[in-house]
Amino acid sequence: MAGMISARNSPVHLFCDSLCTKLPQIVFNHSKGGPSKLSFGLSRSSSYKPLTIITSAMQPQSTKSAANFDNTLPSREVLEIWQNADAVCFDVDSTVCLDEGIDELADFCGAGKAVAEWTNKAMSGSVPFEEALAARLSLFSPSLSQVRDFLDKRPPKISPGIAELINKLKAINIDVYLISGGFRQMINPVALQLGIPLENIFANQLLFGSSGEFLGFDKTEFTSRSGGKAKAVEHIRKVHEYKTLVMIGDGATDLEARKPGGADLFVCYGGVQLRTTVAAKADWLVFNFQELISSLE
Ligand SMILES: [Mg+2]
Repeated sequence: MAGMISARNSPVHLFCDSLCTKLPQIVFNHSKGGPSKLSFGLSRSSSYKPLTIITSAMQPQSTKSAANFDNTLPSREVLEIWQNADAVCFDVDSTVCLDEGIDELADFCGAGKAVAEWTNKAMSGSVPFEEALAARLSLFSPSLSQVRDFLDKRPPKISPGIAELINKLKAINIDVYLISGGFRQMINPVALQLGIPLENIFANQLLFGSSGEFLGFDKTEFTSRSGGKAKAVEHIRKVHEYKTLVMIGDGATDLEARKPGGADLFVCYGGVQLRTTVAAKADWLVFNFQELISSLE
């Protein structure tokens, strides 16, 4: 895809108790007559085993990429906004997590290539988001049991340094949100791992029938439509009356959230995917979350 450079490094996935927190068990909520939603709760009676989230030890992109941009060092103004943020909104796919969730799920269900092509089209903005999302899901119509198997066999992979950054933000009373065009079913365990309240997630929701068959997605979510991330950020700012809000992500839809009434600052994270057109327009381009942590100390 033009304008996008894939990270050339090979993630090293560590499977060990010290890095992988066991999560609460998955609970399947069925409402009478209505679609069921896969959610995550604390029930001990469920027969489902806990998920294990993988913390990657992947090293971020080399500083060679940074040489092509003039926004890798924050200006005084940018730094001031970052250090005075009331809330930080993070994109999930290729930012908090290493993968594009829908592509991973589609691959697991046998439709990886076709769906990845659609994902690229959606990211280029040539197709309305809701149309691209519906088209991608219709290529593999994931059932509840497939989603459950997917989460069990391919748990989310968290970007290196993100847990430390989020812990730092929480320690200095900065609220943290996850804003994603991906699915709550895959983001909830990540939020639990990172200690982010589930109500601070703005993402899409897969809907299933009473037999666990795929029904579609919840079209009332902000992020189910084009421009949805920007709308979600505006909503968060308004409801909580935040004075200063920062958006961190890798994509064009994350950049869109930086506007009056939305995010005051857009930090592009290029540690997984470096989308050059987005990176060039960012207030600050970082390849390592440690840069953001250090500037808060
Ligand atoms: Mg992303």
